[in-house]
Amino acid sequence: MPYPPGARSGDRPTTVKPCPTCGELLGRGYPACLGCASAVDHLWLADWLELRTAERVSAGEEQDRALAVRVLSAPVGTYPWTCTDWALRLTLCAECGGELGAGPPVCPRCAAADSARWEWDHTATPAAMSSAEHALRVAVAVLRAPHRRREAVGSTWRLALPFLLAGETVTPAQVRELRTRVLAGRYGDLARLDTVAELVTLPLAPWRRWS
Ligand SMILES: [Zn+2]
Ligand SMILES: [Zn+2]
Repeated sequence: MPYPPGARSGDRPTTVKPCPTCGELLGRGYPACLGCASAVDHLWLADWLELRTAERVSAGEEQDRALAVRVLSAPVGTYPWTCTDWALRLTLCAECGGELGAGPPVCPRCAAADSARWEWDHTATPAAMSSAEHALRVAVAVLRAPHRRREAVGSTWRLALPFLLAGETVTPAQVRELRTRVLAGRYGDLARLDTVAELVTLPLAPWRRWS
């Protein structure tokens, strides 16, 4: 099947709730908090384990690396996007030595790998990838390589990730509203809110400034 969907077989939290490890909304501590990281990465890993089974590949670093090479050299849409991402994580960049696609912005090999991965999203049908799944993918890629983007971009996706993890949609317009509020210096107040609706309507300036 071309364009097999990703992130649909692993369990997701059904509601946005605090992470038992860091206390922030689950996902917000990604990837530094182990609780947040395991909840998020579970969706990717579930697909990778399914792929291993389908391809009759046994567990092991060597076998995983060989499978990663196969995934990354296949035509776009052959494997789920989650498996492309996982393959990138398992592959060291020959240029900068970091996780492929997540190295410093000046690394040409990482730039090429990172831009190639988004081909999937650009060419898939909406049935193969929802806009919420695309947003989830972007959020996780940005947070794994925050040095590749402006700080406000990382903070915006950090705020959005718990909602995306729980399967909620955050539209591009809402992402823009959120980023505007981050740029206005409201991250601390935004991080205390529990719904996307509240996050994107928080006044840009705190009321106390005017009192
Ligand atoms: Zn956490
Ligand atoms: Zn690199």
